[in-house]
Amino acid sequence: MAGKGKLFGVLALQGDFEKHQHSLESAGARQCEVRNLDDLKRVDALVIPGGESTTMLRLMDYYDLFEPLKAFGAEKPIFGTCAGAILMARGVSSPAQKSLDVMDIDVERNAYGRQVDSRIIELESSVGNVEAVFIRAPIIRRTGPEVEVLASYLGDAVLVKQGKHLAATFHPELTDDIRVHKLFMDLVGE
Ligand code: GLN
Repeated sequence: MAGKGKLFGVLALQGDFEKHQHSLESAGARQCEVRNLDDLKRVDALVIPGGESTTMLRLMDYYDLFEPLKAFGAEKPIFGTCAGAILMARGVSSPAQKSLDVMDIDVERNAYGRQVDSRIIELESSVGNVEAVFIRAPIIRRTGPEVEVLASYLGDAVLVKQGKHLAATFHPELTDDIRVHKLFMDLVGE
């Protein structure tokens, strides 16, 4: 399986990128780390992992990747989880910070509050019931007309799709279930 087909990059500046690499491998995708512009130019699709979006933004600026990533997202598919979803949004609050604006969603960071900021739940989604791990997750406060909601939790969208882009406020990469990664691979056309 490996060797042919689309190349999936995983943004490897900070966060749980190795978990995504593992999920992609398990799903049969060809994958590599993306740490600089040369890496980015080689890949057909990109995963932005969970982690700390503010730190990732700083590193994007440091490595001059912010504008190239924005341009990449205007053309090629991106899948972001948690911090990755925050970075893909159009608007970010609590606190506000810049973002790549590849999906027409607005997110509020760390929105589930301190007491219950991390949890694992069973979630009904378009790919079946999945175990969803939330860690200091954002809440998607607005979805634009092009955005399709594939799963919701407590009334808020938690898995959304727009064209070939996919964003989850939880972490499918932290489970052995590869269906959400497979869904992204389908969107990419792999
Ligand atoms: N709270 C983090 C942020 O705002 C996201 C947490 C995560 O990716 N698990 O970037």
